[in-house]
Amino acid sequence: MECVVAENMEGEVEELRETFSSGKTKCVNWRRSQLKALLTLLSDKEEEICMALYKDVGKHHCEAYRDEIGISVRSLNVALASLKQWVAPKKAKLPLAAFPTTGEIKPEPLGLVLIFSSWNFPIGLSLEPLIGAIAAGNTVVLKPSELAPACSSLLANIIPLYLDNKAVKVVEGGLTIAEGLLEMKWDKIFFTGSPGVGRIVMSAAAKHLTPVTLELGGKCPAVIDSLTSSWDRKVAIKRIIAGKYGSCAGQACVGIDYILVLEEFAPTLIELLKTGIKNMYGENPRESIARILNKQRFLRLKKLLDEASVGNSIIHGGSLDEENLYIEPTILLNPPLEAEIMTDEIFGPLLPIITVKRIEDSIEFINLRSKPLALYVFTNNATLKNRIINETSSGSLTFNDAVIQYTCDTIPFGGVGQSGFGRYHGKFSFDTFSHEKGIIRRSFLTEFWFRFPPWTANKLQL
Ligand code: NAD
Repeated sequence: MECVVAENMEGEVEELRETFSSGKTKCVNWRRSQLKALLTLLSDKEEEICMALYKDVGKHHCEAYRDEIGISVRSLNVALASLKQWVAPKKAKLPLAAFPTTGEIKPEPLGLVLIFSSWNFPIGLSLEPLIGAIAAGNTVVLKPSELAPACSSLLANIIPLYLDNKAVKVVEGGLTIAEGLLEMKWDKIFFTGSPGVGRIVMSAAAKHLTPVTLELGGKCPAVIDSLTSSWDRKVAIKRIIAGKYGSCAGQACVGIDYILVLEEFAPTLIELLKTGIKNMYGENPRESIARILNKQRFLRLKKLLDEASVGNSIIHGGSLDEENLYIEPTILLNPPLEAEIMTDEIFGPLLPIITVKRIEDSIEFINLRSKPLALYVFTNNATLKNRIINETSSGSLTFNDAVIQYTCDTIPFGGVGQSGFGRYHGKFSFDTFSHEKGIIRRSFLTEFWFRFPPWTANKLQL
């Protein structure tokens, strides 16, 4: 089956190249029409999208709308409202030596771009880069993750009903298809996924000197300072719980991976978390929490938990239901730092809490590990905030909340170091899929005599 698609791929890609060459996608009206069509798609197909998300990962309708449809609608509205401004050339100041000259920077589309998305937000992570690619005037091949088959097939079925088929194509498939696509020449590859596959993508891109954006993952720490006010604690606990378990059951790249907390404050924090989980999810969390993707991922999480639970580190939850791929929101206290739960991205509803002697020790703890995609710090301490800002590096840094940065389109979203490179969302998406061409316009009015040979002694003295 895959081979048939693979055989057709060359022809499809050729058609996309021809569309780009025709100049059609550069037209701002065309871009607007496609973005508007995507808005219509989201409104017409909301039910089907939510059903597919439920089928693939058991997302509740509310979560599906908030994390995938709502964010995409907002991004589309931002792009539609800003497109005119984004495409306009910007004047550039030039040095006096260039007088009389004017300069400008004009964004131009890159050409034909390839987008790989991940299964945990299969709709949102497909549409968010697609919006940027279309806004910037490119033609696109989108390959959704085969691990969310209902969403992948829904996208493959509905996108052709709304978007220009000669400019945007959805290619479904697994490894064979992905490898086939990576062999081809693209003008940009935008990849969301694991650091391991990110390396494969980057090596394949190197063959054609194709620029890449890698939106990868890793462990996102949350530093929790000893909050004293009861209101602050109340708000923080909700945000921490939602930041850990609230998006795809912790299977989220920007979800809180583990907590760093002062030894003395840990017992209070744990009690607050236990009560908070009960308040948020009730007696039966599985009604509102997504399930684990598949058996393989479930067994991996079970292994992480078994390995880490040596020494009774599980202090809350810990029940697993293999048949329904459900894991209860679980908290672990000081699991061994060399256990996989503390060395690998968890990507599930297991929350290790690591205690530190001084809250400032968190800085060294974080810096000894790979640079995170996101870092969260819950504190009112201005000195600690400044030290965290100046002494740590992460894709993004959020004080007193988690995951929210993903929705802020005026803040670039992306990683650093092991968590990836390149950025998108809002105008950053447009830039990611554009080339900023420098344009210099000169007149023949005047010329500086000392610019050109013959090189004489009086020119040296200038
Ligand atoms: P993955 O790397 O396994 O797969 C991502 C994509 O790559 C899929 O489309 C898949 O078909 C393709 N792929 C898989 N193996 C391939 C290969 N050998 N060659 C070419 N393509 C291949 O990642 P995943 O399991 O889908 O997602 C989990 C990871 O993604 C986590 O690390 C998570 O943190 C990260 N992630 C990052 C972001 C972000 O925005 N930074 C968002 C979601 C997920």
